[in-house]
Amino acid sequence: MARYIGAKCKQCRREGKKLFLKGERCYTAACAIERRPYAPGQHGQQKTKLSEYGLQLREKQKAKRIYGVLEGQFRTYFEKSDAQPGITGENLLRNLELRLDNVAYRLGLGRSRTEARQVVRHNLVTVNGKRVNIPSYQVKIGDVIEVKEDAKSFERFKQITEVTGSRIVPEWLEADIEALKGTVKAVPARDQIDTDIQETLIVELYSK
Ligand code: SF4
Repeated sequence: MARYIGAKCKQCRREGKKLFLKGERCYTAACAIERRPYAPGQHGQQKTKLSEYGLQLREKQKAKRIYGVLEGQFRTYFEKSDAQPGITGENLLRNLELRLDNVAYRLGLGRSRTEARQVVRHNLVTVNGKRVNIPSYQVKIGDVIEVKEDAKSFERFKQITEVTGSRIVPEWLEADIEALKGTVKAVPARDQIDTDIQETLIVELYSK
């Protein structure tokens, strides 16, 4: 599946916000937006006031960038969320959170969502004992996500867990970072999703 592969820091600078696309590195002095807090390009330092539509569009772009989802797939998430009972915006965020690559990231199996996605794509993760290499796979309550047995000794996971071992895992997940596994205990409530997204703006955009 196609995905955006441009420079991550440029995406943050374009949105004017830290999107934490490089995991723990984003908390260091290497963070590009802290050094250059303006959009990339020749006109990046010009201030422009966004219209209501512009704000809604930016919010959607931000959500797509954070979760690494392209336009077509994002619209599919919206349509699915709109058809589900409950509040569409909250459903949307919940569906994005329940992607396997995001859950692997939240459990500490990748330093960033991009790395967690690679780990999934490289056939290194199992769900309930079966290999799943589809980053968008939707996990369910009770699913056990685990690095496959013969990959647990890989140097790569030693390097990853050195960084992610101290990460706070959200309450809706149970992580055993030493065993490189975790369980989905519940679907996340809105206040358990810490991504900086105003989902109502996205719903307004698609509802026009
Ligand atoms: Fe964004 Fe992280 Fe790059 Fe900072 S280091 S600009 S938060 S991706």
